[in-house]
Amino acid sequence: MIRNIIRINESLCTGCGLCTGSCPNGAIIVSGLKAKLIREEYCNGCGDCVPACPCKAITMEELDVAPFNQAAAQQRLAERISGDNPAVVNWPIKLRQVPVSAPYFNGCDLVIAADCTAFTHGDFRRFTTGRTVLIACTKLDNYDYSEQLAKILTRNNVRSIHVIRMDVPCCGGFVVMVRKALEMSGKNIPMVVTVISIKGKVNQ
Ligand code: SF4
Ligand code: SF4
Ligand code: SF4
Repeated sequence: MIRNIIRINESLCTGCGLCTGSCPNGAIIVSGLKAKLIREEYCNGCGDCVPACPCKAITMEELDVAPFNQAAAQQRLAERISGDNPAVVNWPIKLRQVPVSAPYFNGCDLVIAADCTAFTHGDFRRFTTGRTVLIACTKLDNYDYSEQLAKILTRNNVRSIHVIRMDVPCCGGFVVMVRKALEMSGKNIPMVVTVISIKGKVNQ
């Protein structure tokens, strides 16, 4: 059937993996350092992955493809989050506690989330599964994390950064902190920001 579906331009894709966390159906994986749609029937054409890509490698197109299969997509999602699979690959997860060098930072897609986000969004695993995750509160921790985070970015091979903050004024400093750390590190790491509303919606 003719319908909207994604097309991934592999020549633009850096394999950062940010699109995989944005898909509500878990329809995209990164394999061989390139993003791939696992099956056409998992993609409902919602378009959430398009703005998540910092390289503009994903477009929506009208193509003659298999129809969206909601049951198959739900099963795929259930498989992805079931069992003993932890939602993150590292421990500890508090930025204040992590060492500045660790194996789980090397080659990782790093999620840096403000403390309140995971409790406010109803399906936070979509952002964190298979990723290295750090959490902090730049308002209440009363600690400037930028130097510590800069060391982490400098000493490890972080592939991408996904910052998740709340859409409230007190969380504005969270993104400022990460940007400052990235600048201090001197690295050119792709970074995207997701903003979660107090109703749990994603305001990109
Ligand atoms: S368009 Fe929506 S369902 Fe399809 S791959 Fe992108 S985020 Fe997933
Ligand atoms: S976000 Fe874009 S560059 Fe990164 S893996 Fe997905 S398609 Fe590739
Ligand atoms: S800055 Fe405010 S919204 Fe952000 S994590 Fe801290 S208390 Fe929560």
